Amino acid sequence: MSKNSKLTVLGSINADHILNLSHFPRPGETVIGTQYHIAFGGKGANQAVAAGRAGADIAFIACVGADDIGERIRQQLAQDNIDVASVESVENESTGVAMIFVNGEGENNIGIYSGANAALTPACVERHQQIIAQADALLMQLESPLESVLAAAKIASQHQTQVILNPAPATRLSDELLALIDIITPNETEAEILTGIAVKSDDDAAQAAKALHAKGIETVLITLGRRGVWLSEQGNGQRIAGFSVKAVDTIAAGDTFNGAFITARLEGQAMHNAVRFAHAAAAIAVTRPGAQPSVPWRAEIDDFLQ
Ligand code: ADP
Repeated sequence: MSKNSKLTVLGSINADHILNLSHFPRPGETVIGTQYHIAFGGKGANQAVAAGRAGADIAFIACVGADDIGERIRQQLAQDNIDVASVESVENESTGVAMIFVNGEGENNIGIYSGANAALTPACVERHQQIIAQADALLMQLESPLESVLAAAKIASQHQTQVILNPAPATRLSDELLALIDIITPNETEAEILTGIAVKSDDDAAQAAKALHAKGIETVLITLGRRGVWLSEQGNGQRIAGFSVKAVDTIAAGDTFNGAFITARLEGQAMHNAVRFAHAAAAIAVTRPGAQPSVPWRAEIDDFLQ
């Protein structure tokens, strides 16, 4: 693969409304917040940003509402080195939102409205099939309608576009979809939901990977948080340790890992080096608060790896 290999990411965009307050409101109660901010999130957008900042040639298929926040998010994505021509603005729908209450103990309560993300239908995927067909890899997650993920995977496999799926949030998947995946990147919980095997040790990870290979997936990368990843290629498995850093919050660790990993692969980096590159990007992200604000740029990853 050449330096100019193309990546397409398909997935969700959310505006996270984060309200800090002393305690969660009980039914009927009003609590005055101590701090409020909006952060841009959604697994699709986070992974697109991770790839864009890591230096990928990337286009993003997603939907926002035809509202102010949707427009601001589009502009921010473009600044993150992402081609947003296939980010659709959907009339009469709001941009996807997460309403997050954080109490004094740092616990959270979250309500989500998928909004315009639900408009990423198979028909929408079809409108953008060219950029899936022309890409060298297609990266997806599961915050978009499952039938759309399947439709996109079918287009990709018809055009020799490699399909990489981060199966988050955790859910069971059909054999039809799994058979179309080239690389899957579950965390421990997601691997357990997909295979029924609780991943507590390297042996468990090897068993879970074997179960996923049996579904027709060539490469399995089970992310293990601070312990790194279990990499299994056609049944040959090994754990690749991550970097030891002082984590302040692990939000978007997996998203950063995925975006950086596929960027490195599309540059032609060998599997082991691509995992190391992704570990570095994710390690930087966990030393900083928030989702997209914590995602590093290429120069920071290169410096970290020096
Ligand atoms: P998810 O965020 O999807 O649950 P993981 O928690 O498995 O994913 O983390 C994904 C990757 O992020 C890990 O493989 C590792 O590279 C990095 N990572 C996560 N937590 C830490 C940590 N505490 N220290 C260093 N790296 C971490």
